[in-house]
Amino acid sequence: MNVDVELLAMRRRAFFPGSFDPFTIGHMSIVERGLTLFDEIVIGVGCNVAKHGENVVAERVAAIEKAVSVLGERVRVTAYFDLTVDAARRSGAICILRGVRTVADYEYERTMADVNSRIDGIETVVLFARPELAAVSSSVVRELRHYGHDVSSMLP
Ligand code: ADP
Repeated sequence: MNVDVELLAMRRRAFFPGSFDPFTIGHMSIVERGLTLFDEIVIGVGCNVAKHGENVVAERVAAIEKAVSVLGERVRVTAYFDLTVDAARRSGAICILRGVRTVADYEYERTMADVNSRIDGIETVVLFARPELAAVSSSVVRELRHYGHDVSSMLP
């Protein structure tokens, strides 16, 4: 009994934050690869109360839950409305997990990792995008969808 409790306490959890508008195969790849490094991943859907209504948040969380259900119980999805570091700590994570596709992503992630580390001391673990997924982004999906193109190949 005690051993189980200790083992549970040792589970290494990462917090994967993002807008996920929508959740793509690029995001899915980061979660799958993250599971080889961490025991659990909490996907944090960053929300803005002014921008997102409650329904939008609930729908986005439900869609991601459905997409990651194939990965089993080591992945959980939650919405948050505050600072990423605060949501990460609340989730019990030991680090923030992010993905990098381009130099522009790198610059942004470098700055955010530095800010989050200064605020809270939390580490950020970055995984480089698989080359074949480097062009997949939520904004491309939204743009293609807007003009009526089929985006199913970019969605999990
Ligand atoms: P944000 O608005 O916080 O950047 P996104 O939903 O766009 O959130 O992305 C969440 C994380 O996933 C970011 O670290 C982003 O760089 C990463 N990411 C997005 N698309 C891909 C991809 N195709 N491959 C690897 N990482 C990705």
